[in-house]
Amino acid sequence: MQMHAWVQTTFGGPESVALQDIPRPIPKADEVLVQVRACALNRLDLLQQVAPLVPGFSLPHIAGMDVAGIVSATGGSEGEALVGRPVVIDPVVTCGDCAWCRRDEPGFCPSLRTIGSTRAGGLAEYVVAPARNCHVYDPENLSPVMMASVPVASVTAWHGLLGAGRLQAGETIVIPGAGSGLGTAGIQIARRTGARVIALAAGAEKCRAAEALGAEIAFDRTAVDWVAAVRGHTGHGADFVWDSIGGAFLQQAIDACRIGGRVILSGTTAGNDSTIRNTSLFHFGRSLIGHGGYTRREMRETIAAYQTGALTAVIDSLYSFPDVPAAFAKLKSGEFFGKIVISIQ
Ligand SMILES: [Zn+2]
Repeated sequence: MQMHAWVQTTFGGPESVALQDIPRPIPKADEVLVQVRACALNRLDLLQQVAPLVPGFSLPHIAGMDVAGIVSATGGSEGEALVGRPVVIDPVVTCGDCAWCRRDEPGFCPSLRTIGSTRAGGLAEYVVAPARNCHVYDPENLSPVMMASVPVASVTAWHGLLGAGRLQAGETIVIPGAGSGLGTAGIQIARRTGARVIALAAGAEKCRAAEALGAEIAFDRTAVDWVAAVRGHTGHGADFVWDSIGGAFLQQAIDACRIGGRVILSGTTAGNDSTIRNTSLFHFGRSLIGHGGYTRREMRETIAAYQTGALTAVIDSLYSFPDVPAAFAKLKSGEFFGKIVISIQ
């Protein structure tokens, strides 16, 4: 049996990916075959077209970490109850048996692979995933397009703000990249927690959209000194700055904190290396906290929040399967607010 898939065979950019007719994957005993209905894009999909960033990446590769679809076959008895059900896939595939997996901290599993990054992803008509990674959702009020927007951005935001960051009601949090999937999920999660949100975005239009989503105020970080703006708005600095950017942003994030405030490190889109003034931390009792990986419990909690309507998928745009190159061009442009999703079949 064959299927269509967007396959990356070289490095270089969007032209390294082409639509191919390839054999449909066969699930192993603990896996299921999922007919992909929707797949959302993430920045890593774009970055790995240029160079391998995640250890274990190999060519040929099928990108797409955020997948929702229908289970069409099972490789063994574990997935039997899933056949025919609509599922959203947790892309983090682990051994399920090591000390970290048993403690529900799969992000630290030594054999971790990620669907769409270090194993075949969802920019295809079919994808294989372990049965235990498939979370059934109720299609009554949720669509595959909405669910495909959930795993990478929303569960990461849920873990970063509530798990690693321990965000509390009444605290003030700074959320950068307000138009990204992480940002739109983060703003909603913070508001739902009762926190006050200061959003950062590029451009006035995204700032207004962030405020419409629940931010108390949004600053255009291409136009103003956002650290001064945050200090001015709060009077003493933020309780919590979510650094999903890295690079030079980290020192700014520290400077935007109040005395005793904290920065959660959860991304390095601006670079893996940062230089900081030690005194800006130890003189003021501020903390840096590493994000780590989300837990399976947090994955279930996030899906439940969408199921009940506590969180809403923010979809920037929807593309058809043949239009994947145009979707990548949109992602590369940075001109979007919310997730870019591919509808398949
Ligand atoms: Zn493990």
